Amino acid sequence: MQQMGHEQVVYCQDPHTGLKAIIAIHNTTLGPSLGGTRLWNYNNHEDALIDALRLSRGMTYKSAISGLNLGGGKAVLIGDAAKLKSEAYWRRYGKFVNSLNGKYITAEDVNTSAKDMEFIGMETKFVTGLPEFAGGSGDPSPFTAYGVYTGMKAAAKNAWGNDSLSDKTVLVQGAGNVGQYLIGYLVKEEVRVLVCDINEDRLKTAKQKYPVIEVVANDDIFDLEFDIYAPCALGATVNSDSISKMKCHVIAGAANNQLADENIHGPMLVEKGIIYVPDFLINAGGIINISVELEGYNKERALSIVEKIYGRTLEIFALAEQENVPTQFAAMRIAEKRIKDIANLRVGI
Ligand code: NAD
Repeated sequence: MQQMGHEQVVYCQDPHTGLKAIIAIHNTTLGPSLGGTRLWNYNNHEDALIDALRLSRGMTYKSAISGLNLGGGKAVLIGDAAKLKSEAYWRRYGKFVNSLNGKYITAEDVNTSAKDMEFIGMETKFVTGLPEFAGGSGDPSPFTAYGVYTGMKAAAKNAWGNDSLSDKTVLVQGAGNVGQYLIGYLVKEEVRVLVCDINEDRLKTAKQKYPVIEVVANDDIFDLEFDIYAPCALGATVNSDSISKMKCHVIAGAANNQLADENIHGPMLVEKGIIYVPDFLINAGGIINISVELEGYNKERALSIVEKIYGRTLEIFALAEQENVPTQFAAMRIAEKRIKDIANLRVGI
């Protein structure tokens, strides 16, 4: 907590439902902490804690850079999703969230759904990302994908002088919730799209929907020729090994924590001349969408905020160049400055 600057970490357990939760609140300077609930069968409690600390810190940066009046938080639930999920389980968790009196607002994440949020919502109002039929904003993935597309266009402008992608080749790694929608935007702009995934069904669905895409094998993707790499599967795919093989000019994708080590791999990308759009900036479309739900959902308003990712990406490139730092650090500085400025503003009347 000291190393990463967390405000509060709360442990919760309930023997009747098997609930074991860690709620990490990183920073609430800008507003209540918001971040999803991840249900995962962690190897041990220490791994779960580290995940909660890392992810909640990421949410602070994501909301700050997106101009949202929200802080960073995240919850991890420990255990097997297939065995644990039940109405009682979610409602018990909802009670714990409620006990924090709005300092933490939850939403969906890995292994949690809008339906689960509905159960949580029976015990607390501090939940967002509810299903559309329940008055919520529904699936955030199309908004995340739109933000990634927008940030990718800004990166293209920086790399090639204009933001058209139509003569480019993009590799989308992961044809999941976000990847599918991203492919849709790219195909519409007549981009050549290469797609890989470890899940054959996901690839089949994508190919049926967009016959023009080219499915490629999952191994050795960096031996292929493409202009833009869009990681939309897992974190840490930008590492020493992959960078050494990369021939692309731009990295712009949805995955969280794309750089295996930001201190090593940010500078390495600069050295290789590869433009990296910081993940917490480009994949903020989803949180932007659920944040709008908190003030009364309006899709047009959500999209207009997501579109700002374009300008912000250009701003970060300019700062990175001016200060001669990797884009990840430039983005972190902008986020940290906003938090500091607003904290100072609150001193006085
Ligand atoms: P998802 O689980 O629906 O899709 C991920 C896809 O990646 C799956 O089809 C999976 O089979 C594939 N995959 C997994 N490992 C792979 C590998 N080694 N190689 C190739 N493909 C692999 O998840 P999603 O909701 O589409 O999210 C994608 C990424 O974006 C995740 O890292 C997530 O944390 C991040 N993200 C998502 C959102 C959102 O709104 N859903 C918001 C912000 C960030």
